Amino acid sequence: LVTVIKCGQLVTSTRDDPLLRKAIIVEDRKIKDIVAFEMIPVSGEIVDLSRQTVLPGLIDAHVHIVADSGPVFTAVAQETDGMTGIKAAFHARQTLLGGVTTIRDLGGKNYVEIELKKAIESGCVPGPRMIVCGKCIAITGGHANLIAREADGPQEMCRAVREQLKMGAECIKFISTGGILTPGMDANATHYTKEELEAGIIEAHRMGKKTAAHAIGTEGIRNAVLAGVDSVEHGIILKDDVIQEMKRRETYLVPTLIPVVRNVEHGRTGGIPDYAVKKATALIEDHLVSCERAITAGLKIAMGSDAGTPFNMHGSNSGELYQLVKAGLTPLQAIKAATINGAELLGLQDKIGTIEPGKFADVIAVNGDPINDIRDFKNISMVMKDGQLYYLDL
Ligand SMILES: [Zn+2]
Repeated sequence: LVTVIKCGQLVTSTRDDPLLRKAIIVEDRKIKDIVAFEMIPVSGEIVDLSRQTVLPGLIDAHVHIVADSGPVFTAVAQETDGMTGIKAAFHARQTLLGGVTTIRDLGGKNYVEIELKKAIESGCVPGPRMIVCGKCIAITGGHANLIAREADGPQEMCRAVREQLKMGAECIKFISTGGILTPGMDANATHYTKEELEAGIIEAHRMGKKTAAHAIGTEGIRNAVLAGVDSVEHGIILKDDVIQEMKRRETYLVPTLIPVVRNVEHGRTGGIPDYAVKKATALIEDHLVSCERAITAGLKIAMGSDAGTPFNMHGSNSGELYQLVKAGLTPLQAIKAATINGAELLGLQDKIGTIEPGKFADVIAVNGDPINDIRDFKNISMVMKDGQLYYLDL
């Protein structure tokens, strides 16, 4: 079965300028070729996007698919797993229709999200490709402890990693510092020692899996970077020495600016607990400044929305792109952060992230010109994942 996607403007994420009047030939699940309109084969189903911008499906490197974006993030821990699973399936559909064809889930609940991943892969519910970490790993009583696997000391850390891998985790997430959405703790506080993180990271890497660290305060970020983590999540208080070390090691930064913005925007009137609003308000400026400095220093950036956190809806993931542009990326750089860079961070660079022959046909269209106005991503007009058309509304 051949599908021909006629593109008005085609952003491949491999080039610095869009291609005009090209068509993507999709055969089976993959991109077979990119041809000029004159060379379109006579057979095949045509999807006419000749007035749209066509791009690779977005990759969101930081999502909590089990969380429902309600005002109290910790509420997910009180639900039954059955309810969480039903909601998560709905979130997965919203995510896909928002143009996100791949997510990295960085903190699930009781492995419900791993069941969801299997359900999506079997075709029983629509949703994005998923790379999952299982439970995030936190110190006893640490940030996210209601849903995390608590582990203390290097040996226990190693065991916690192995447990996640046994359950089907494809990456490992460590909670290196306190956090905004957990009551009763300083968000900046250093939770794990470098030695503890190192034990977990070495174990994950030994098993061929990448690692991510939730890290807000400087010392916790530094510990994670020096321990060899693959991506720093949030990175709210970045100091120069840490930026230089990340640059040297090519450590990714996933800034996740939008959850903090949404938190402050909706605040107490939206029902967000006082502790969370206070911490977000205190950190929002430093967060933006750190992200700006990381961009100026040329750190590798991947897009992560932290969708599932308060008022940060699944399906609105691309709102993070606008935040990244406000922090200094060009729209095309932001698009690359959400495509080719995300693919590299997830270890999927041979399969997705660009429009190139041989890649899986994860293709989206936007009604508008996101190269000029990144906010046009709210006008998604087509979503194809794995060569299958999930949404078309011109
Ligand atoms: Zn998160």
